[in-house]
Amino acid sequence: MDSQTTLPLSQMDKMGHEQIVFCQDPYTGLKAIIGIHNTVLGPALGGTRMWSYATEAEALTDVLRLSRGMSYKAAISGLNLGGGKAVIIGDSRTLKSEALMRRFGSFVDSLGGKYITAEDVGMTTKDMEYIHMETDHVVGIPETLGGGGDPSPVTAYGVYVGMKAAAKKAYGNDSIAGKKVLVQGSGNVGGYLVDHLMEEGAKVMIADIFEDKIRKVLEKHPNVTVVDAKVISSVDMDIYAPCALGATLNDQTIPNLKCQIVAGAANNQLAKEDIHGKMLLDRGIVYAPDFLINAGGLINCYSELEGYNRDRAFQSAEGIYETTEQVLNKSSETGKPSYQIANEMAEERIEKMAQIHRSL
Ligand code: NAD
Repeated sequence: MDSQTTLPLSQMDKMGHEQIVFCQDPYTGLKAIIGIHNTVLGPALGGTRMWSYATEAEALTDVLRLSRGMSYKAAISGLNLGGGKAVIIGDSRTLKSEALMRRFGSFVDSLGGKYITAEDVGMTTKDMEYIHMETDHVVGIPETLGGGGDPSPVTAYGVYVGMKAAAKKAYGNDSIAGKKVLVQGSGNVGGYLVDHLMEEGAKVMIADIFEDKIRKVLEKHPNVTVVDAKVISSVDMDIYAPCALGATLNDQTIPNLKCQIVAGAANNQLAKEDIHGKMLLDRGIVYAPDFLINAGGLINCYSELEGYNRDRAFQSAEGIYETTEQVLNKSSETGKPSYQIANEMAEERIEKMAQIHRSL
C-alpha cells in the first residue's frame, strides 16, 4: 500500500508555500517530500536531492528552504517558472533501486506537471532515467535522451558575465584582464569559469581539496597559480569566486577578505543572509548574489522545456549581466545589500504577475 498526503495551505509554513506533498511507498522503502513553493510564474522546477536526513523534520526544513530559493532564482532570471524541490529520505548508496526511483517518478507524474524535477545531490543520470520512465516532467536529462546534458558550462558562463557586471560596478569598466581572480573549487563550474577568465587575460588562482581536480585545470592552463585551500580568505586578490561549498562568507572570513568583488557559483554563499550581506556592503565589497549569477543551470533546464538548444541557453544566460548591473546599481542607490535587492526584485516580479493573472 502506498499513500500520498497533501497538507492544506493553512498548515504550511511562513515562507508561503503552495503545496507540500509527502510520498511514501513501503514496498520500495520510498519516503519523499515534494515542496511546491510558488507556481505564479509557471510550473515549479527544482532538483531532487537524496540524503540521509536525521529526521523527517530536517528533510522538510530542507525542502521548504530549497524550493523557496528556486522561486527566487527563476523569478530574478526572468524565467516563466515557479520554485520547487524534492527530497528522498535515505542513504543514496544503499537505498536506491530501480523500483524506488520509478515509484518516485510516478509520484512526480501524479502532480500533472505542476512540479518538474531534475538531478541534485545524491542522484545520478541513471536515477533520472528511471524517473523519466514514469514521467515526462523531468529536465536535465542526457543529450542522448533529448535533454540538455551537463548544465555546468552554461552556469559558468552566467557566473562569468555576472562577474563582469560586478567589475563594471567596482572598477568603472567590465574588463577582468589583469585582475587577480581566485576560483575556490575547480570542479565542473569552476573549471569552465577558469577557461573564460584565462581567455580574457585574468591572473587566475585556483584552490581545491583534491589533487586530481587541480591537475585537470593545470593540464589545460599551466599558468594558473595554485593556492592552499585552507587560506583562501587571506589571499591577496581582486575577485573571489566561491565555486565549492556554501557559507564561505561568514564572521571569520569576511573581515579578512582582500578583494573588491565576490562573484561565484556556489549556492548559499552568505552564512547568514542578513548579517553577512550587510558585512560585505559595509566593507565596500561588491557582492554579485549567488542565486542570480549561478542561474545558468536553471536557464539550461528551462530551455529543455522549449526544445533544447544550447546556443539559446547561452544567449539567455547572457541576460545575467544586465540583471546583475541593475541589482548592484539599486544596491548603491538605496544602501541596501545586493542580496536584499535581488530578493525584492524577485518578489516584485512574482507579485506583479500574480496581479495580472488575478485581473484576467
Ligand atoms: P563540483 O563538485 O564539480 O565542484 C566543486 C569542487 O569544489 C570540487 O572539485 C571539490 O573538490 C571542491 N571543494 C570542495 N570543498 C572545497 C574546499 N573546502 N576548498 C576548495 N575546494 C573545495 O560541483 P559544481 O557542479 O562545479 O558546483 C559548484 C558549486 O556551484 C556548488 O555549490 C553547486 O551547488 C553550485 N552550482 C552548480 C551548478 C551547476 O550547473 N553545476 C548550478 C548552480 C549552482
